[in-house]
Amino acid sequence: MIELRNVSVAFGPVRALSDVDLLVAEGELVALLGPSGSGKSTLLRVVAGLEPPVAGTVVIDGRDVTYEPPQRRGIGFVFQHYAPFPHMTVRENVAFGLRVRRARRELIRRRVDELLAMVGLEKFAERRPHQLSGGQRQRMALARALAIEPRVLLLDEPFAALDAHVRRELRAWLRRLHDELGATTLMVTHDRAEAMELADRIAVLNDGRLEQVGPPGELYDNPQTPFVRDFIGDTT
Ligand code: ADP
Ligand code: MG
Repeated sequence: MIELRNVSVAFGPVRALSDVDLLVAEGELVALLGPSGSGKSTLLRVVAGLEPPVAGTVVIDGRDVTYEPPQRRGIGFVFQHYAPFPHMTVRENVAFGLRVRRARRELIRRRVDELLAMVGLEKFAERRPHQLSGGQRQRMALARALAIEPRVLLLDEPFAALDAHVRRELRAWLRRLHDELGATTLMVTHDRAEAMELADRIAVLNDGRLEQVGPPGELYDNPQTPFVRDFIGDTT
């Protein structure tokens, strides 16, 4: 469903990604795990179409989208520093993607009601983002990303800056949601426990290179590089 072939990204002299090959199957949830600055967000932005690669190819659903703009890639995304529209209500924020796609008014209302119920925000529909807690804002961001029924969902540290217990709750909720909707999901995290619990497979990034991609148990039992061994094995 998502295929990166030999993708490299550079910012001036900085190589943010080097020769990355990654294949994410339809319906799979893959976690991108790695230390700060390893290229996780850049990889997601390349898939989203927000960062042009200096080399390589991005294929989504069998189509070469390397030079397609974000809105023609059929994906929903939630980035780390998600900024909702402050002057819009929760309902309007979630409806935004449908409105710009000129969906019919009744369809928008029905879809947004469903989504708000799904993320447990039905009672908060008429509030503004600043009247929500951090966890509620994150759930609103997810509802907004899901509104366009993306076949591919990109999440960049969707639970960053939340309390541990809220993170755990949202994690379990995201797993259920993913199983229900079946969207192909690529999620960035630097939280090993989060990756281990949520992901079908984990892709470990180090300094712009993919060190290893595999199911959580395999990375744990059979690390292919010293970096993976240390990074996965370090439980402190
Ligand atoms: P991560 O998400 O894993 O923390 P990033 O993908 O944000 O890492 O960054 C990877 C590398 O690319 C880092 O060295 C970072 O400083 C650099 N980088 C990222 N975005 C930019 C940018 N817009 N301009 C210059 N350098 C950048
Ligand atoms: Mg990042």
